[in-house]
Amino acid sequence: MTSASPTRVGFIGLGNMGSGMTRNLQRAGFELVVNDIRRESAAELIAGGAVWANTPAEAAAQSDVVITMLPTPRHVDTVVNSPTGILAGIPDGGTWVDMSTSVPEVAQRVRAEQSTRGLHILDAPVSGMAVGAANGMLQIFIGGETDDVERLRPVFEAMGDPERILHVGAAGSGYAVKLMINQLWFSHLVATAEVLSIGVKAGVDLDVLRRSLIASPANSNFVQHDVLSVLENGDYDEGFAIALACKDLGLSIDLARSVGVPAELSGLVEQIYRRARAQYGDRAGEMTPMKLYEDLIGVELRLETVTA
Ligand code: NAD
Repeated sequence: MTSASPTRVGFIGLGNMGSGMTRNLQRAGFELVVNDIRRESAAELIAGGAVWANTPAEAAAQSDVVITMLPTPRHVDTVVNSPTGILAGIPDGGTWVDMSTSVPEVAQRVRAEQSTRGLHILDAPVSGMAVGAANGMLQIFIGGETDDVERLRPVFEAMGDPERILHVGAAGSGYAVKLMINQLWFSHLVATAEVLSIGVKAGVDLDVLRRSLIASPANSNFVQHDVLSVLENGDYDEGFAIALACKDLGLSIDLARSVGVPAELSGLVEQIYRRARAQYGDRAGEMTPMKLYEDLIGVELRLETVTA
């Protein structure tokens, strides 16, 4: 790979997130080579000029940089290491960026086993939900070498908010930052669901309770903004499946274990998420744990009108 910025981007994983990210890369003028196990997911991109690759190896061979946006570390491992995976096609000196919410093990193993090939490997997971992917306003947390981050900046800027594309440290740091963001957000969600349910059952009007929280030191971005998806619209965000949220919580606890930090609260939040997943199914939205509390108290937490 030369030091020039890439023009041809390979992209593997055209799901809720990857579909929006690739559309924005295409709009920004990058040539795309795309792959997914669901070929139909590429139809619109191909109509817009993208090239279909039959395997991740083909996508990697035809691109200046290959990006993965896959559900779990297991999927990343398959796409990278299988006989038709990225490593079978990427040229020596090539670049792979994993934007999945994942852990460093796959990349570490590639670095160790392919150390003579001069590969450039970055982790760059994202926040901002499917809507952020669709409108090109993702937050991106990048772990890797500074030169690589700068060379790839135009690619990241096509998918993310330039103000919130952060180089957070060496390889692996992006994964860690992303997992901690999700851990805290899921914890906010469970804590907020519990507090709203108790307050409402104690006879306080939901709108009054929420406005009181916003005016207090207990205010949070979640109470002020994100919870409105449920309170206004009964929308539990099916754009992010609870099965993936449970995956993130599991990875976050694994990370805590690997660095020797107890994670009692995270463990409890994970169990509540797993209960919601068991009750409402893998594809239920990431905010479905709120529904657990609603079902428990027999009240849907809904605002009539939003005043704050
Ligand atoms: P998704 O399940 O909607 O999409 C994943 C895609 O990968 C699917 O199109 C699937 O067919 C494809 N895929 C799976 N195995 C494959 C293989 N072997 N080869 C080629 N393609 C394969 O998932 P998503 O919601 O887009 O999430 C992707 C990643 O982004 C996850 O790690 C998730 O945790 C993270 N994330 C999601 C959101 C969100 O709101 N959805 C937000 C931030 C981060």
